[in-house]
Amino acid sequence: MKDNSFIGERIEKIRAALPQGVTLIAVSKYHPVESIEVAYCAGQRDFGESKAQDLVKKYQELPKDIKWHFIGHLQSNKIKYIAPFVHLIHSIDSYRLLQEVDRHAAKAGRRIPCLLQIHIAQEDTKFGLTPDECIELLEKGEWHSLQNIEIHGLMCMASNTDNEKQIAEEFAAVKELFNRIKELYFKERSEFNILSAGMSDDYPIAIQHGSTHIRVGSGIFCK
Ligand SMILES: *Cc1c(COP(=O)(O)O)cnc(C)c1O
Repeated sequence: MKDNSFIGERIEKIRAALPQGVTLIAVSKYHPVESIEVAYCAGQRDFGESKAQDLVKKYQELPKDIKWHFIGHLQSNKIKYIAPFVHLIHSIDSYRLLQEVDRHAAKAGRRIPCLLQIHIAQEDTKFGLTPDECIELLEKGEWHSLQNIEIHGLMCMASNTDNEKQIAEEFAAVKELFNRIKELYFKERSEFNILSAGMSDDYPIAIQHGSTHIRVGSGIFCK
């Protein structure tokens, strides 16, 4: 048998150092249900996956009180599979996608919480709306007519670099954008309160810049 006990220890160690109000999402993509079960036994309930098929399969096999976060690039034709149960979609990067999620949420008879993904990193490989595109989407206002989604905040990934100053600047820029959007469009809406920033290598910096949800994969599941 594989020794998976380190998974529980990692989770406890990360959690012990988190400020109050910060949620740890264990990113279990590429990892089998056995590893997730170990994390679950350590009390972990929020998990993140980046592929719809994997998410559905794991949802079916694992306890139903798990909160499943979708963090990958979402294809329109896959929304229907995750709409009935997904807890939070972190990766909305167009109005069109938001509309599609709304449509499938209606069919599933629920409202789906979503985050707008912000492209902030220097690399051009990463998905997301630029800050300007994000403001434009919200300013247009069509999203107000979508009854089956709720916009709960923003998600971002910093550049994949050792330059901590650059990472800090990127997180700070997204926090500033978050505050601006809150003030402009969600002032009276308490549900807009999630900033999903920070992964295994940079989450302490993200927390310093207001991250409320961190997405940690390799830091938990890789030996
Ligand atoms: C894989 C992934 C993570 C976790 O990355 P680690 O470096 O393994 O912690 C977080 N967020 C997103 C969007 C991911 O795709």
